[in-house]
Amino acid sequence: MIGVFGGTFDPVHFGHLRCALELLESLALVEMRLIPCRQPPHRPQPQATAEQRLAMLELATSGQPGFVVDRRELDRPGPSYMVDTLTSLREEFPRSPLCLIIGTDALLAFDRWHRWQEIGELAHLVVIYRPGWRGQEDLGRAGRELQQWLSGRLVTDLAVLRSAPAGKVLFQSVTQLAISATDIRMRTKSGRSVRYLLPEAVREYIESSQIYRSV
Ligand code: ATP
Repeated sequence: MIGVFGGTFDPVHFGHLRCALELLESLALVEMRLIPCRQPPHRPQPQATAEQRLAMLELATSGQPGFVVDRRELDRPGPSYMVDTLTSLREEFPRSPLCLIIGTDALLAFDRWHRWQEIGELAHLVVIYRPGWRGQEDLGRAGRELQQWLSGRLVTDLAVLRSAPAGKVLFQSVTQLAISATDIRMRTKSGRSVRYLLPEAVREYIESSQIYRSV
């Protein structure tokens, strides 16, 4: 199984990395692909350039077996839609189960993603949650069509995920660290330290390239 972890990574931090590592282990993935997006469709554009965000991801993940930094969205013009990314991964890996990692907030708004139903034909969804998530009760906040779509797909057994290339939804608990890239950018702008929030090599890169000084 291959994990697909997309984001702006502006910059990558320990919240992303810890979560990606735990999933690599708990799902027994052959690899976790960290995929920086070129142009996020639903949010403000990143501050660091694509190449800077890629360089930070490479610094952060170097030496970690199983982590793969994947630049395919950076090389594709236009908005970075996940359905296009998964289509391209599926061409490369015709039979491997693909596990798209998403948080619970993203899941509740999943029916606003571009061609969302096709995503379920291309990959499994692995929904990461933290203490406080109330399962069915919280899922009740999703739109009716999404709730129905989910109800036929929920599984609790990893073996079911392994046995099909796509189409299932698994909830997986991970240690989530309350770190955000927005907070790191704001601290950097105001001259405060970001040490211990992200890998030291990334902190040094931000300092020497002077990114996020003017948010
Ligand atoms: P920003 O503050 O700029 O919105 P971010 O820190 O949320 O950025 P993204 O690059 O947007 O980082 O996130 C990429 C993916 O990582 C998303 O799926 C997001 O839900 C997840 N993620 C972000 N922060 C954490 C965290 N602290 N723990 C676990 N997952 C996270």
